Amino acid sequence: MIQQQDEALTLFENSLAGFLDKTASPERIAAWNQNKQVDRDAWLAAGEFGMLGVLVPEAYGGLGVDFRYERVIMEAFAERGLEGWGVPVHNMIAAPYLIEHGTDEQKTRWLPKVVSGESILAIAMTEPGAGSDLQGMRTRAVRDGDEWVINGSKVFISNGQMADLVLLCAKTDMGDGKDKISIFLVEGDRPGFKRGKNLDKMGRDAQDTSELFFEDVRLPYSNVLGGEPGRGFAQLMELLPQERLGIAVMGLGMLERALKLTVEYTKERQAFGQSLIDFQNTAFSLADVKTEVTIGKAFLDHCTALLLKGQLDAATASMAKLWITEREVDGINKCLQFFGGYGWMNEYPIAQLYKDARIDTIHGGTSEIMRLLIARSL
Ligand SMILES: Cc1cc2nc3c(=O)[nH]c(=O)nc-3n(C[C@H](O)[C@H](O)[C@H](O)COP(=O)(O)OP(=O)(O)OC[C@H]3O[C@@H](n4cnc5c(N)ncnc54)[C@H](O)[C@@H]3O)c2cc1C
Repeated sequence: MIQQQDEALTLFENSLAGFLDKTASPERIAAWNQNKQVDRDAWLAAGEFGMLGVLVPEAYGGLGVDFRYERVIMEAFAERGLEGWGVPVHNMIAAPYLIEHGTDEQKTRWLPKVVSGESILAIAMTEPGAGSDLQGMRTRAVRDGDEWVINGSKVFISNGQMADLVLLCAKTDMGDGKDKISIFLVEGDRPGFKRGKNLDKMGRDAQDTSELFFEDVRLPYSNVLGGEPGRGFAQLMELLPQERLGIAVMGLGMLERALKLTVEYTKERQAFGQSLIDFQNTAFSLADVKTEVTIGKAFLDHCTALLLKGQLDAATASMAKLWITEREVDGINKCLQFFGGYGWMNEYPIAQLYKDARIDTIHGGTSEIMRLLIARSL
């Protein structure tokens, strides 16, 4: 339970559990992992249930609730091994750009479909030559009368195969010889927009992560987020702290699940006439992990409270992502050790967790970039 829990949130949490039991059974999750993407039916069912675009204001069909609801969704996902389903990218990472910065016309056009699941969202910043260093991006948008013409490519884009609307970051010439980043709204069926293959990853198998190519893609001028070019970097800086907090939430949920599975296993498994958990080495290691989970939760509560007050800054969000995801990767590794050879078997959820966790110190800004951002506040 999170610190800022109230009755309405508990009701949502309980009905969400019922929905996920029905829609995301272990067999279905296994099939999504096999197919390397989640069925569109599941997205639409999630929309009908009310799990998509929960931050979207009621005027556009959403629940108009706050980040606590996203936290509950991500924790429920982590608890069930659903970390591959790209709902957090859709809900908590991409939709806020439209909510916070979209024009009325953009919100009216897209937000109701974000809520229903008819428009799956992706956000495309990273390029083959520019990941950590976003300013190095080369995708360009050039104005041509009432249109933009976009050329370039992106890589590692979550929801890349399924996305109906891509929030595309590109450089624009501001007319004074200076390039600035803008975010463009690119519909999936625009001529010249092509998707590369669904990338073969180490974990999060159900997540469709792709290269995207833009060859002379023409967009109406009004498809620039917020109606004016050149604001993209500021828009990203404003919303990246929430994205990083979200990654920390999911990461801590995964570590907590690993701990639970490991405690259960080590109580059952016998060696040298006793349960594994009765070896002091096992109990002490798991005590360390439990300590980290408990401290991590308290910091997530602190960061959530700051976010709800509009005061979560880049450095504090980076501390959450850095500390929690490093503990997550290390803690899940320790947990796997106690499964012995079974931990290396894919049929054991701890093996999947080990693979799924590894990306968390990389995507959404690497641990090194988190340290840079924290260091700037010294
Ligand atoms: C599964 C997955 C999903 C993703 N989803 C998305 C998505 O939906 N949208 C999107 O836009 N991107 C996405 N990404 C991209 C992700 O955010 C980047 O991979 C990440 O930011 C790192 O960029 P890079 O891979 O280019 O690594 P690089 O920037 O090349 O970094 C390589 C190494 O150098 C280090 N390094 C770089 N600069 C510095 C520095 N100044 N000081 C010290 N060390 C440094 C890094 O920390 C890292 O260890 C995803 C990536 C993956 C793998």
